[in-house]
Parts: sequence; structure tokens; C-alpha cells
Amino acid sequence: MKYKAWFQCSAGCGERHGLNEIVYNCSRCGELLEVAHDIDALKQRKPTAWKRLFNRRYMRTNWPYGSSVWGKKELVCPNVENKNIVSLYEGGSNLFWAERLGREIGLKDLWLKQCGNAHTGSFKDLGMTVLVSMVRQMLYEGKEILGVACASTGDTSAALAAYCAAAGIPAIVFLPKDKVSSSQLVQPLANNALTLSIDTDFDGCMKLVKELCARNNIYLANSMNSLRIEGQKTISIEIAQQFDWDVPDWVIVPGGNLGNVTALGLGFLIMRDLGIVNKIPRIACAQAQKANPLYLSYLKEFKEYKPIQAQKTLASAIQIGNPVSIKKAIKIIQLFNGVVEQASEDELANAAARADRTGLFNCPHTGVALAALIKLLKRGEIKPDERVVVISTAHGLKFPDFKIHYHEGTLEEVTPLYKNEPVDVPADYETVRGSILRALEKGFYDYKPTVRPGRTLIKD
Ligand SMILES: *Cc1c(COP(=O)(O)O)cnc(C)c1O
Ligand SMILES: [Zn+2]
Repeated sequence: MKYKAWFQCSAGCGERHGLNEIVYNCSRCGELLEVAHDIDALKQRKPTAWKRLFNRRYMRTNWPYGSSVWGKKELVCPNVENKNIVSLYEGGSNLFWAERLGREIGLKDLWLKQCGNAHTGSFKDLGMTVLVSMVRQMLYEGKEILGVACASTGDTSAALAAYCAAAGIPAIVFLPKDKVSSSQLVQPLANNALTLSIDTDFDGCMKLVKELCARNNIYLANSMNSLRIEGQKTISIEIAQQFDWDVPDWVIVPGGNLGNVTALGLGFLIMRDLGIVNKIPRIACAQAQKANPLYLSYLKEFKEYKPIQAQKTLASAIQIGNPVSIKKAIKIIQLFNGVVEQASEDELANAAARADRTGLFNCPHTGVALAALIKLLKRGEIKPDERVVVISTAHGLKFPDFKIHYHEGTLEEVTPLYKNEPVDVPADYETVRGSILRALEKGFYDYKPTVRPGRTLIKD
């Protein structure tokens, strides 16, 4: 392929490495590396030609281009040979017009990007396909790699385990003990990853896995490895594509380690550089109040930043106090005239449940983003006629306890405003009918039945 990409120092000192080198930080300044593309080569193709190419490939079975990540291969990772690509058909997730939810909160043009409708149930697949493909490329070139490892709040390990299993490469996952959902724990186990349950939090796991990878021939799969960011970048390219190459006014994304908000920004920037779109949206990053180092820094206009000790939050995938991509994320938020908002446990749980009532099924992190949306609308930061896309990061089914305990009313610090409990009734027709009609008459949720004057629903 005539297109080229390489690692370069994200602090701009000019150090470069090949994408097939095992390196994550600049050797001179210690900063993270980022992937850079030969933009001049990419510009040889006209914007309309890029759009036509991407549209022709989108969600077809011409392997590997039907994957929405590899359908944008030239902008993502041109260096991997197709025969080494490990793909489980990523992307192409539905962009859902949340018409009823939007109407309820006073927004005409609200969309949910359902990135959790993915092979392993979260957006992490988008980056992992790139990283594991590059590992297979390196193995093919004769590099010595014993396995691939990551620290995870649950979803990264699920994705790593699945892609490594598909490729036949050993996966090692570091999970904080008792801090991931049982669904998330069972995913790497099922995919036969070596699963370490460690008595610490995510930040503690991160420290250990970094040392392991620095001192052994084990490749690090966390998002400090910017190959993952390249795959996740396709979220914004896909959003534009789904709007027929139009760009929304706002994109709201929950942030923990802050790789995804960075990726989102980079996706829009490369499209703008190539003339595929002519504007960029504003970005809102939403954090849990219990794990809000970016929010705290935002309050000080990013002049100060301190890692914090993250507290336990329902939004467990973003329970991170020392985000690895902090500097990259701040750059993106500044460039996109962005804002950072936070959500309490009560706000995130009720926002998720409120949206569920309009047909969604949200994970707690999507709840954080939805709570941020509601606050930004109330504050007038987001206007009622603007087009807003909320990134839903994982499938709600990955977090069954969050849902069950909400509706049981047993979540700490949460007053469930939208609780719905099973109604116990004996197997008796009249009692069953009576309880249904009583519920309907009361106004089941916000649906009010029309009853002709002088009549009631319940006759007996
Ligand atoms: C990983 C993850 C996030 C946070 O993404 P970052 O890149 O770490 O900011 C949010 N939600 C879910 C469900 C995740 O798995
Ligand atoms: Zn450097």
C-alpha cells in the first residue's frame, strides 16, 4: 500500500518509530507516542473518492473491508498486511434517533451511537482489532512476543481475550478483584485468557502490567498503546458516514482513561484534514463524580492537573484516577471547544433508567453521558435545536446487577425515580385483570389511556 503511518512522540520532539516496534513512550521525553499518517499521500485521493470508497465497503462481506475499522484501513493502519488482520467485523453499530427521550428532555435531534452493539459488547473491539492485527503482523515478521497483556476495568480484557482467541495468541488480563461485573469476568475466562484477579484497583493493575511488559517479551494492550486509538477513531468517521458525511453539533462521550475521547477527536480531525467534512463538532467528556480528575482540571481551565484516588462508582469501567491519555485528551477538548461535565451516582443511574424507559438499555457509563447531556441542556450550553450524538460505550446486558439493583431500589446513594418492580399475582384471572386495569388507570408510566366520559376502565 502506498499509504504510510508511524509512531511519533506526542510532545512533538520529533522521535519516530515503526508501528511494528515494541515501544509505547518517547525515549527522549517519556511522553506517549501517537500514530501519525502521511497526510500528503492521503490527500492524493479526493474527498468524494474517499467517501465513495468508504460507502462501497461499508458493512459488506468483502473481507476485511466490511469491518468498519478495516473499511477505513488507509486512515487507520495501512501497515498491516490483510492476511494478518484479526477481525470480528467491527463497527457498523446503529445510530439511533432517540426521538422520545429527546422530546422529554427538550432536544429535537438526539442520537445514540450504540457502540456497545459489538462482538464483545463494548467499543473496545474497535481498537483491539488493530492492536492484535499488528501483533500478528509482528509475529509473522519474526518478532518474539510471548503474549499480549492488559489491565482492565472489564471491557478491554473482554476484547483482548476475544481477538487473541480468534488469532491463537496468548492473552493475559489483569483485573481488579471484585471491581468488574460477573458478565465482564466471564468473558476472558470463556475465551481462555489467563485471567489474574488482583487485590487492587485499576490504577494498581495498570502499574503492574506496565512493569511486566517493560521487562518481558509481552506486548501491552492498554490504550497508552496508540494503535488502539487509531481503531477507535473510526467512531467519528462512522458517525459522519451515517449522517451522509455531515457532522453533528455535539458529541458526548464518557471518559475514564481518556483514550476514547482522544480517538473521537482524532477521527474528526483527519476527516477535516482530508476535506471529507468541513467542520468539527463540540465535544463533551462526561466523568463519574467519583473518578473525575479531568473534570477537576477543567474547572481550573486545565492550568492544573492532579491524578486522584478514584472512588467506587457504578460506572466501574471509568473508575480511573490517573488516566493515561490525560494530555492528549486535554489537547482534544481545547481544540474542539469542548466541555467536561460530571455525574453523581444518583444522576447517572436515574439518567440511564429514564432513557431505558424510552426503549434504550443503558450501561452505567452511558448513564454518565446522558446525565451530562441533561445538565448541559439545562445550563443552556447545548441548545434545544442542536444535533447531539451520545456515545453509548457498552451494552447494558454487561451490567445486570446495576439494572437489577436499581429496580430493587438497593443501589447506594441512588433514589430510583424510575423503578419498575415485578408485580406478584396469584394465578387467578380476575386478580390478574384487576391489577392490569388498575395500573393502566393510574397511568402506566406516562401513557394515559383515553377513557370515554362517564366510563372507567375497571367495571367491577
Ligand atoms: C473503556 C470504557 C470507557 C472509557 O473509555 P476511556 O477510553 O478509558 O476513556 C467508557 N465506557 C465503557 C463501557 C468502557 O468500557
Ligand atoms: Zn519526545
